Amino acid sequence: MKTIRVTTLALCLLFATGSFAFHLAFSPQKAAAEKQAAEIEKCTQRENFVLVIHGGAGHKEYKLKERAAFIKDLLIHCKRLLHDGETSLDVVHFAIKEMEDSGLFNAGKGSIKNKDGIVEMDASIMDGKNMRAGAVASVSRKIKNPITAAKLILETSDNVMFVGENAEKYVKRIGSFDVDIDPKDRFGHSDAANPHGTVGCVALDRCGNLAAGTSTGGFGRKIPGRVGDSPIIGAGTYANDRVAVSCTGHGEYFIRWAVAHDVAALYAYKNLTIADAAKQALDKIQPDGGTGGIIALDSAGNIATPFNTKGMIRGRVSSTSEPRVAIY
Ligand code: ASP
Repeated sequence: MKTIRVTTLALCLLFATGSFAFHLAFSPQKAAAEKQAAEIEKCTQRENFVLVIHGGAGHKEYKLKERAAFIKDLLIHCKRLLHDGETSLDVVHFAIKEMEDSGLFNAGKGSIKNKDGIVEMDASIMDGKNMRAGAVASVSRKIKNPITAAKLILETSDNVMFVGENAEKYVKRIGSFDVDIDPKDRFGHSDAANPHGTVGCVALDRCGNLAAGTSTGGFGRKIPGRVGDSPIIGAGTYANDRVAVSCTGHGEYFIRWAVAHDVAALYAYKNLTIADAAKQALDKIQPDGGTGGIIALDSAGNIATPFNTKGMIRGRVSSTSEPRVAIY
């Protein structure tokens, strides 16, 4: 008798749990909440979006045609993503990850070796919507995509930057994310004659939010442990609710003059156009010998791409314009 009562109780419990789970899984409220969440994640409130990419300042013949064609294809792809309502943060990450994986730039797979013959990569990403940022510096090819590691930090940590082996350990700990830690150390290409191929991207999405990111292998034959401007928020990368900036060039100057933030400051406090703000920020480093370039974008979709080197490979696309690639 006792056994029958226990079994009945167990069956009732099982049924109640099951129907509760079924209700949770299939209730109209849940479906509505999921639909709302999907709508919140998609940016389709506005018509306009803009994206700008750079593949490094300083004119380099290295696979120039191939790199230009690659950027053009990437712009076409990014245009579709932004049109479909992907956020600026996600599209900036996507664009930089593609460039890292291409091997055509000095970032990710194509990173140049330092003096010791080892690749040390830097990257950062910033979400202008909420001022969150993530960065890695001096990471090895154990991390396939430094920009993904930077985004992972932005999304999971209250800290902004992790360096070296400890950055790799952090990323590995949050193992469920698609960051692809390689079990074996991998090497970048050793083309030290191609030192300018840092990559960066800024975007404005259909929510009106801005984001910026930058990724690099740094200077060829750099001293081990040297970190440039690319992973430093305010130096190589910056985004807020008004501007998004990614820099390339001689990193030490961009760090000392806090160039990426300077663009934002000139824009906000001096009420300059984005073109004037970016140009003035770059002009400040020139008398001291600083060379490089900037891509910048404001929340109205205005673009600036000044550089004081012979060239800066770059591309732009918007909701109303076709992809355009330029070098000089
Ligand atoms: N800014 C990068 C660095 O100094 C290099 C570059 O952009 O070419 O590491």
